[in-house]
Amino acid sequence: MTFEQLGLAAGLLRAVADQGYTEPTPIQLKAIPAILDGQDILASAQTGTGKTAGFTLPMLQRLAENKSTGRRLPRALILTPTRELAAQVGDSVTTYGKHLPFRAAMIYGGVSFGGQIRQLRQGVDILIATPGRLLDHVSQGTIDLSAVEILVLDECDRMLDMGFIHDIRKIMGRLPDERQTLMFSATFSKPIQQLAHTLLKSPVQIEV
Ligand code: AMP
Repeated sequence: MTFEQLGLAAGLLRAVADQGYTEPTPIQLKAIPAILDGQDILASAQTGTGKTAGFTLPMLQRLAENKSTGRRLPRALILTPTRELAAQVGDSVTTYGKHLPFRAAMIYGGVSFGGQIRQLRQGVDILIATPGRLLDHVSQGTIDLSAVEILVLDECDRMLDMGFIHDIRKIMGRLPDERQTLMFSATFSKPIQQLAHTLLKSPVQIEV
């Protein structure tokens, strides 16, 4: 099975080829078609399995296929537990999206608000964020999440372990109900299943 057979568009196939990837990994084989189809997913996948491309590639394609409202508000939100992971995922979004016109911003704590706010004012399509700093922006009115079409929760079990559950629930309250949600977690513990139950609609469950 090739990336082309999974249904990815030309700009993304070029980015994948630029990376030297010859074939999809098992998680990519399962996640890419389901996400392109608009389904919610609950996936258990460790780091190193290619999960980041597994959600980033089809997410970019969905954004390209759906017409933007022209409001220049974020259309995709990727939540990660740490700034290091946010930076890593941000790099992947840049790499896989290099032939597409989207603008991405990373929003995490430990740096000043000023630079982030300037970037947000210019208009951002994709946010890669840690929950705490994202909520600070939402409370201050510097981030409007009302146009988010796709939500990704990466390393969900770590986010729960780090005590982000209340932040995550507050963020959910700011998102449109009609959206696609993709949940990634190394384990399917009881709390993860409970969160999945409240956030996902008829999810495709993927284990690799
Ligand atoms: P991740 O699990 O998303 O952290 O990805 C782990 C590593 O696998 C990254 O360095 C990717 O560049 C690489 N990778 C992702 N997809 C593929 C693929 N289909 N073929 C070869 N390498 C890949």
